[in-house]
Amino acid sequence: MTGWEGPTEKGSFADDVVGGGPSREELARRLASVREAIDEACQKAGRPAGCAKLLLASKNVPPVQIRTAYELGARLFGENRAQELRAKAPALADLAIEWHFIGHLQTNKVRDVLRHAAVVESLDRLALAEELHRRLHREGRSLDVYVEVNVSGEPTKHGLSPDEVPAFFAQLVRYPALVVRGLMTLGPNSEDEVTVRRAFRALYELRERLRQEGYPNAPLEELSMGMSRDFPWAILEGATLVRVGTAVFGPRLP
Ligand SMILES: *Cc1c(COP(=O)(O)O)cnc(C)c1O
Repeated sequence: MTGWEGPTEKGSFADDVVGGGPSREELARRLASVREAIDEACQKAGRPAGCAKLLLASKNVPPVQIRTAYELGARLFGENRAQELRAKAPALADLAIEWHFIGHLQTNKVRDVLRHAAVVESLDRLALAEELHRRLHREGRSLDVYVEVNVSGEPTKHGLSPDEVPAFFAQLVRYPALVVRGLMTLGPNSEDEVTVRRAFRALYELRERLRQEGYPNAPLEELSMGMSRDFPWAILEGATLVRVGTAVFGPRLP
């Protein structure tokens, strides 16, 4: 897997951070290591260095550590619970963080998410599109969204099945406040390179098809795929954004 061995856990916890978590030095080392692995995968794919943006999945990560990661150059952060985003974003409002919402979004939580997130990566149903559009339209603004697709077909995962996606895009024209910047998926729960890459390739091909079909308000520049365990494979299959949590922040506290 492109020389990437995943996060190391040894000796990584500092006493000076409330609630534990990696020290600043450890965070710097892991961030550098992930960035290096990104560039290596880009090179292996014949794509330019930095071909995929790094988004840090910061669920369960305290603001103090997010701030440190920011000081080390990270700008994109992803949260997957509206309440957690609402609690953490104000504490970090002095930073130019671009928040992405990457979890399942209930329509009754849309308000909180719209207040903080620049991108909603988990658009997976028309009722959510309608609620987002309704509020955005009232505020006279638009929002960048990605459509979440369940390419692996695993029943525990959210997202549209690939078959449903073209009809979904046809319906989205009714919600012009939404600009569909890309597709998002979670890779299959598998360690097998062929299986995982096949799923990522399916998302890439779906994106190509949708682009050809040419839906309005859907420039589809982005493919958000790949997490700590599989982001180099995602980059080999065309990811433009990888969502990495544990490889940088360490295992999540319960
Ligand atoms: C937590 C999370 C990630 C990151 O997962 P890691 O395995 O910690 O890298 C990526 N995407 C989503 C949607 C997540 O919830």
